[in-house]
Amino acid sequence: MRIFKYSVAAVLLAGIFLGITADVNAQDRRTLAEAEKYSGDKFNYSARTRRGARVYAVSRPSAEVLNAIDKGLTDLFAVARKNGYRSQLKYSSYSIFIAKADRENSSSGVYTPSFAIGAAQYAGTDYDKGGHIFVAGMVISNNPMAFIIAEHTREFNKVSDIVRYEGEHLVLYHNDRRKYNETADHSKGGGHPILK
Ligand SMILES: [Zn+2]
Repeated sequence: MRIFKYSVAAVLLAGIFLGITADVNAQDRRTLAEAEKYSGDKFNYSARTRRGARVYAVSRPSAEVLNAIDKGLTDLFAVARKNGYRSQLKYSSYSIFIAKADRENSSSGVYTPSFAIGAAQYAGTDYDKGGHIFVAGMVISNNPMAFIIAEHTREFNKVSDIVRYEGEHLVLYHNDRRKYNETADHSKGGGHPILK
């Protein structure tokens, strides 16, 4: 992976020269590279939600989006506590990447922004449909905790839902490994919400 490492360094360097990617937290360097690899996007904007979650986005995230992220995490932490989980329920432990929406509507015409991931990463798995797949959200790292969501321009309640749903995987990873393993791969059954 030496070539890949150099390309990441080049991206970070280019960011510095352009005055962008200025505020990449040290723990997010690796996840940033992962997020770019999966989405094919550049996350040139960084922000913090009011409650302290880190956000990296393809365009400047609005206050509405940042608040929707906080709401999703608040809902997630509430249901986690209800289930007796205590670990990793801190806003600042979460990094959310907002990728460009490659598709706005689901096949049935419902506003469901999603981004395409190349099947290359999934070659040979159940996800491999011989091209790309569209996802609304995707965990990229359990530790540190990070996931990607698709950019929304309206219906921000859907952002809260996706944050809550993707966050479930992370909460389970750190609190209930058995349940985590049951739901980590949706292609083997199970959907969201996992926690009730
Ligand atoms: Zn999921």
